[in-house]
Amino acid sequence: MKNEAKKSKNKKLTWKHLIGIKRNIQEKIKAKEFELTFAKHILDFEKIQKCLACKAFPKYSPLGLCRYHEFCFKYGWYQEFPNKQYIPPSQNLIANPPTSYDILVKMFGYQEFQDMQEIAISSYVNGKHTFISMRTGAGKTMCYWISAILREGLTVVISPLVSLIDDQVIETIAARIGCTSIYTGKHQPPQYFEKVFSEIAIGLIKILYITAESFINNSSFIRMLLNFAKYAPVSFVIDEVHCIIKCKHFRESWSKLRKISTFFPSSSIMMLTGTCKESDAYLILENLRLASNDVAFIRGLSFSRPELTMKMHPKSTKEKTIGEIITLLKELNEGKCIIYCPTVRICDDVYEQLQEKSGLGLPMAVYYSSLDSKEKKKIEIMERECNPTYDCN
Ligand SMILES: [Zn+2]
Repeated sequence: MKNEAKKSKNKKLTWKHLIGIKRNIQEKIKAKEFELTFAKHILDFEKIQKCLACKAFPKYSPLGLCRYHEFCFKYGWYQEFPNKQYIPPSQNLIANPPTSYDILVKMFGYQEFQDMQEIAISSYVNGKHTFISMRTGAGKTMCYWISAILREGLTVVISPLVSLIDDQVIETIAARIGCTSIYTGKHQPPQYFEKVFSEIAIGLIKILYITAESFINNSSFIRMLLNFAKYAPVSFVIDEVHCIIKCKHFRESWSKLRKISTFFPSSSIMMLTGTCKESDAYLILENLRLASNDVAFIRGLSFSRPELTMKMHPKSTKEKTIGEIITLLKELNEGKCIIYCPTVRICDDVYEQLQEKSGLGLPMAVYYSSLDSKEKKKIEIMERECNPTYDCN
């Protein structure tokens, strides 16, 4: 892994040759004429003192660098500094390139890896397609965050849902890794894509989240990536990779992700899923046109969820069921509660009854796929900022 990281870091990036960069984006950022796509996820973005090397993340160290660029500075990774006018002070560099463990500790403040994370990262960073099946909560995200830092260039994460992507962007920015997202929708007009390409070109973005639909149907994006790949590595992650077989009938783009290995034969792919049958894993590889001999299979050690307990109660009348839910809610002192219902109509019905009868004064909302995106966004913000009770199906 060390050799791979070192080899990769020594490549010179000639950003100016990349597509569409007709004006100097750095100058525009300096003159505050360029608003970053992820600025809205950084608290008080306009007011904070910003990192001298990226002009994006808050200053973290006495040298005036953000957490990521302070880390890069210690290892002499100056090519990671988007602001080329910044001249780092002279220093004694750490002699060896960082390991995944160094990144875990120094960037993320954890002292040990969970489950099979370290083995998964090592396999992927060394250029092997890596199929990771680990339970929810075992830290699959950390596998590609650390890999993205070690591999340099751009990591493209294909993710199934816009709401999941929005959460992933917020978490990644909170971890101080430059990232943004692409999906189709009125919130992302054509100018937005140009902006994303510019941010990738100047090296601000390390991770790009994208839906399978946007990846498959956006030929200018693929062209941009192919150009980018001439100068820097492009790595791929397919999150919730089981969607390739589970969603193939209603989301055609998922069954066309073999385009990755066709267009980017030298890029390695990390495939992430929770539980997955062996036969399904082979079907997924077949669909992606990957030979099983070229793939490392990493299976989490434990699928048990000690933090979860399960109790079953017989259901009686509707009236009684609502009463029981209210009693359970009253016993909850902290955290959030999700109530799954079989249909949208029942969701709305349970929600109305809880609103009327509970007298709990708890923030609660309904959430299902047919809600419009504005309403969904409102509920997602509410979910992050307080302790709501959800009715979902
Ligand atoms: Zn920075």
